[in-house]
Amino acid sequence: MAQLSLRGIKKQFKNTAVLHGIDLEIGDRELVVFVGPSGCGKSTLLRLIAGLDPISGGEFVLNGKLMNDVPPSRRGIAMVFQSYALYPHMDVYENMAFGARLMGLDKAEVESRIAEASRMLRLDELLKRKPRELSGGQRQRVAIGRALVRKPAVFLLDEPLSNLDAALRSDVRLEIAKLHRDIGGTMIYVTHDQVEAMTLADKIVVMNTGRIEQVGSPRELYEKPANTFVATFIGSPR
Ligand code: ADP
Ligand code: MG
Repeated sequence: MAQLSLRGIKKQFKNTAVLHGIDLEIGDRELVVFVGPSGCGKSTLLRLIAGLDPISGGEFVLNGKLMNDVPPSRRGIAMVFQSYALYPHMDVYENMAFGARLMGLDKAEVESRIAEASRMLRLDELLKRKPRELSGGQRQRVAIGRALVRKPAVFLLDEPLSNLDAALRSDVRLEIAKLHRDIGGTMIYVTHDQVEAMTLADKIVVMNTGRIEQVGSPRELYEKPANTFVATFIGSPR
């Protein structure tokens, strides 16, 4: 079960406010897409949810528990970064094992989780390779696999397709949609691409300059955009 509540979340870097009070409810097993132009605060918000940066104001609650001061490793949340952030000197197996070991899992459990993740992500044949010996799409699958072995209640993905060429993008997009169905967890997916958002999301959160403009299903946003920004961004005929 993963039910998230964001209540008045603010973020400030020095004197610059980047998030101005984000209120949002995310339901169990939802695939929620944060969409908005570059610089609007999507990655910042994801990092706050993961616990990688401190919140400047507001509350983040997961399953009824206040998370503000809970360290990242104990939140049950895993993040897949835009840049993959794989360890270059470790092979694929070690990259996936690292985070799982930090959680204190024993060797057999780590092994069985990696076997399962490798099957799901078609990495079985690649476990001995170093990141430099992989294609962009394969690296992205390893980055997803590394998050998967932690069995997080909440999966965060920050622009996971942005470093892939066009041909691979739709493949990986479909894989992520399938992964969401298979693991049945809550997923937050960040993109600046409205097509990606419209095709993947149960619920879309449209952001603009550190604020939420509208929350709704793809259809609601398309048929009833709340304002001109949303209409223009989503491309609906208003
Ligand atoms: P997005 O992911 O939507 O493109 P970001 O969350 O990366 O946007 O950035 C939102 C704003 O916060 C931008 O203006 C960016 O320059 C600023 N910002 C992000 N991280 C930092 C940081 N560590 N220090 C200062 N400003 C930052
Ligand atoms: Mg970003």
